[in-house]
Amino acid sequence: MKYLVVHDNQEHWLRIRYVLAFIKKHPLAGGGFSYHFEGDGMLAKRIGYISNPHETTDYDFIIPAQQHIFSSNSVDVSALCANLYNYENQQLYSVEATPKSDAAFFDGRHFGFDIIEAIFFHISRFEEHFCQTSQLDEHGRMKSNEQFLVKHCLEKTPVVDHLVYCFLVAIGANPVAAPTRFRMSFDIDIMRCFSGRPPIRMTAKYLVSKPSSLPKLWFSYIRTLFAPQNDPYFNFEWLLRKSDKLEQVIYFLVGGSTKFDRPTAKLNNEFKQIVSLAKAMGLRIGLHPSYDCMADDELFHKEKSGLEEILGEKINESRQHFLHFSWKTTPQILEKQGVMEDSSIGFSDRIGFRCGTGFPYQPYSFEREEPWGFMEVPMICMDVALMREAGNNQQRMIEIWDDFLATNKSLTMITFLFHNSRFFDAELEGMDLKYCYEQIFKIKP
Ligand SMILES: [Zn+2]
Repeated sequence: MKYLVVHDNQEHWLRIRYVLAFIKKHPLAGGGFSYHFEGDGMLAKRIGYISNPHETTDYDFIIPAQQHIFSSNSVDVSALCANLYNYENQQLYSVEATPKSDAAFFDGRHFGFDIIEAIFFHISRFEEHFCQTSQLDEHGRMKSNEQFLVKHCLEKTPVVDHLVYCFLVAIGANPVAAPTRFRMSFDIDIMRCFSGRPPIRMTAKYLVSKPSSLPKLWFSYIRTLFAPQNDPYFNFEWLLRKSDKLEQVIYFLVGGSTKFDRPTAKLNNEFKQIVSLAKAMGLRIGLHPSYDCMADDELFHKEKSGLEEILGEKINESRQHFLHFSWKTTPQILEKQGVMEDSSIGFSDRIGFRCGTGFPYQPYSFEREEPWGFMEVPMICMDVALMREAGNNQQRMIEIWDDFLATNKSLTMITFLFHNSRFFDAELEGMDLKYCYEQIFKIKP
């Protein structure tokens, strides 16, 4: 179905166009939504995106333009409300300047709030671009508990995907009520737990936090001394598997010299062996740029070309180690280095939808007022983030996990991130991360 969109905000029309293009390309739209801004609209339905929605009868549908986020005034993000709207069986949430209750999402012609601004707010990561230094964590990332969706307890809901779906239903564009798509990914920060030396650092760590795990740690160390294949991090034969249901990517850390990078990652025969195994299992290979690559173009280039040389092929995908990504510096680097797909935008201390969507999309450059040239594949569920959210409590972890999967069976995409190293780390904490991992392969499409 064709739509003619008429708006009255020339100043921010590039942002309006960005959101409409996002909706058009959204996988749930299934190609059923196309729009234009000019023309007589003879064969099209007319959507008015206007600031005085009650003064006109010229449109088939009317979206009230809030002109709060799309305005030249600065926005106090901490004062924004997530008002609840119901539509059929779906709960939808706005991003509004004033609180409201019991409002309808759609009355047959009028939408209850400005869905274009709401979608823009989430997918452009507006609040992260314009956040205060005090809202950043020690790695320069916006703290999750300062973020809008987390503050409103909405990070477990793909609010943007739900909005797009219901908007398209309302205007008769026949979206697809598709089951959730899953994507598996791995970050390989370190290949082995024991590199021939006794695990002194780990012993010191667990002596403080969990002394009961020390026999397991040392038993595992001794087993590995006898047979290197027993190293608990070297679990690739078990970890990497074929799946016709899942798209899978494995990212390798191949450089870095900060205390957050593990310098043991060597591009040796063992590395090549894992690469061939991954390829045999149908995984794509990506780069896991080291900590400083967030703002260091040359280092990024060195790591990327080094990996490409070893593989004999181009690398198009990456995920920042430590999810160390800055909206001020990283997108330029990704674009310059020819990365087509990044998957760094997710939470490190909980699971959920940091961008409000689970589907890949082009992020927004506020400097250029246009989309960046690469796709962002939001990272939704990271093993260690799940453990942190559960406070290293096994029962709590299973509750969070089961609940999340049960409430998101349709209308989004979930990218999982597992580390080969975290299963043993979890075991030492008394947690069964393997349970969560195995469950993904049992999910019925
Ligand atoms: Zn990493």
